[in-house]
Amino acid sequence: MLHPWIAQRTTTFDSSGIRKVFDLAAQMKDPINLSIGQPDFDVPEPVRLACIDAIQSRKNGYTLTQGAPVLREKLQQRVDAEFGHADRKVFVTSGTSGGLVLTMLSLVNPGDEVIIFDPFFVMYQPLVSLVGGKSVLIDTYPDFRIDLNRVADAISPRTKLILLNTPANPTGVTATAAEIEGLAKLAAERNVALLSDEVYRAFCYDEPFLSPAKFNEQTIVMDGFSKSHAMTGWRLGFVHGPAAVIDTMIKLQQYTFVCAPQPVQWAGAVAMDVDVSLYLNEYRRKRDLLYDGLSDLYELIKPRGAFYAFPKAPWGTGAEFVAEAIRNQLLIIPGGIFSQRDSHFRLSYAADERVIERGIEVLRKLAKRQASS
Ligand code: PLP
Repeated sequence: MLHPWIAQRTTTFDSSGIRKVFDLAAQMKDPINLSIGQPDFDVPEPVRLACIDAIQSRKNGYTLTQGAPVLREKLQQRVDAEFGHADRKVFVTSGTSGGLVLTMLSLVNPGDEVIIFDPFFVMYQPLVSLVGGKSVLIDTYPDFRIDLNRVADAISPRTKLILLNTPANPTGVTATAAEIEGLAKLAAERNVALLSDEVYRAFCYDEPFLSPAKFNEQTIVMDGFSKSHAMTGWRLGFVHGPAAVIDTMIKLQQYTFVCAPQPVQWAGAVAMDVDVSLYLNEYRRKRDLLYDGLSDLYELIKPRGAFYAFPKAPWGTGAEFVAEAIRNQLLIIPGGIFSQRDSHFRLSYAADERVIERGIEVLRKLAKRQASS
């Protein structure tokens, strides 16, 4: 029964299923862990040193709500150089997640609809519920492509926002240039806000990253340092979009997150100059290792970005298959956590190659077990 102090709004969603998998992992001895949603490389050394230096030189107080000038101005220059939009303003957030929370609070009225592509990142639906909005899911199985006609049909007078995430968690799929341009133009035509979650933009293996903001000046972009620089625990992100929307988000940040940690912001300014292409090449190799190791036995769309793959379970539901994988020491995430369907599972290849190889071995054994029984 609900504790009498607990607000009703918290009851519309469950606690993240990923946490449940992590709790399970804590009890496993030496699991083959392909469940983790963060890079396996360390924060680059110049970035670590910059953070230490900031702390030691007493840069430990609050910053301006919109971000320390050392970082915010550098981000603004980069955004201006990339997009050249007159009205595009950037501010610094507490991770990409902080930006997502502030976007929902700033834009979504109770009853407003938010279009989300299924499968989706775990935070999207609960955040929409938290602000009283309604998630409208568009199923993208089996190839995880965006069908613009279906999006056009899903837009109603109550639609406030469309959420795009490319490269995507959990599928690793990148939207095509035609999908990105089409969606951007559709949102503009129908006067719906387009939110582009670009936290994996540093990890595109087969073609350069393309933002819908190139085709729609009103696009609100979420980005951050968590994945590109392995700074998940440092909580540093940024958002850019039309100044009026950004100013509202900054106003709300004043009363919520206040500011991102100051030493981390100084380190972020250094991170912007660190070349991460070395990691990109390493992750491309890992992607190929995983895909080549599984694609003959699994229905698997080749991931072209992020560090995830989303195969279909060869038998049973996603949850049943994952339970059996866990009994075989392999830790992966059931697809139902990211979707209304429970037919797939998520693998993260942000892991040591030896671990990926051991994971492939178990998955090949599990697929054949069913085929031969
Ligand atoms: N967006 C997506 C698609 C993610 O996968 C994640 C983290 O897994 C985030 C946002 C949150 O990132 P951050 O650590 O910057 O809050």
